[in-house]
Amino acid sequence: MSRYVISLGGNALGNNAEEQKKLLKYVAHAIYPLIEMNHDIVIVHGNGPQVGMINLAFNESPSTPLMPFAECGAMSQGYIGYHIQNAIQNIMLERHIKRPIATVVTQVLVDEKDPAFLHQTKPIGSFYKKEEADELSLKHGYTMVEDAGRGYRRVIASPKPVDVIEKESILSLLKDKQIVIAAGGGGIPVIQRNGELVGVDAVIDKDHASAKIAEIVGADELFILTAVEHVYIDYNTPNQKALKDITLKELDIYLEESHFKKGSMLPKIEACMNFVRATGRPAVIAALEKAVEAFKQTSGTIIKP
Ligand code: ADP
Ligand code: MG
Repeated sequence: MSRYVISLGGNALGNNAEEQKKLLKYVAHAIYPLIEMNHDIVIVHGNGPQVGMINLAFNESPSTPLMPFAECGAMSQGYIGYHIQNAIQNIMLERHIKRPIATVVTQVLVDEKDPAFLHQTKPIGSFYKKEEADELSLKHGYTMVEDAGRGYRRVIASPKPVDVIEKESILSLLKDKQIVIAAGGGGIPVIQRNGELVGVDAVIDKDHASAKIAEIVGADELFILTAVEHVYIDYNTPNQKALKDITLKELDIYLEESHFKKGSMLPKIEACMNFVRATGRPAVIAALEKAVEAFKQTSGTIIKP
């Protein structure tokens, strides 16, 4: 029996409730063999499009109050957690297997002094015209920047996860053989101020949060499932080459040669390297559609010490 942390990319979730339900049905089928083998499982998921959608719905409706970003993140954890629970419960019902599953609304501690708060880089929500952007910035103190010729968008900070506030709950659920969904969207970012935990406007990268969760629960393996079958060097060039088995030392060289794109593959590589370095255990980056093979280590990129 092993303990796995499985991290699902935003691509796993589609663009609306119906798509999300359908895609998660596939995810549930892929994870099912691990459930049947009685492995411990923690599922972490992204929430980029979903949290943007929730935030936008509040922002654009004149009859509802503005909703802080941390609260929107909490809503997305509940909504996505419900769909993951439902998909896994339905396959267990079909196969006559019983195992409890629960979503933990998860706060993740970040450092108020994280330099990320000084350089807000993560665009969220909808696009605005210059005048609208100026107004939002004046009215709500948002930082607005021009995003690749498509208009102005709000940007927020993306600090690193320091600790998981609900870690004891996650550990007891695992001890109780429950399947756990936690740190959705990277977790709800909170800082510690005057002895209180306070939610902040930020987005924690879900790849880094997955690695933190994997470290805390003592995972035997971390799986990051995304849209590509492997990590590649010279990605998107005629020389593109898939990496299958790779060590930390080899990855260091590729990192130096900038083979991994910031904001997409780089955080996955960094997160996996942190986990492998801290635990001496392997991490796998693979395609969601090849999840079954990835769990058997016959597809994807396996990162080893
Ligand atoms: P997720 O929602 O799963 O976090 P991302 O889009 O953030 O997905 O990251 C995965 C994407 O990273 C891939 O779809 C691919 O386009 C991109 N990518 C950038 N560099 C590489 C690379 N060297 N190898 C593989 N994929 C890469
Ligand atoms: Mg990503």
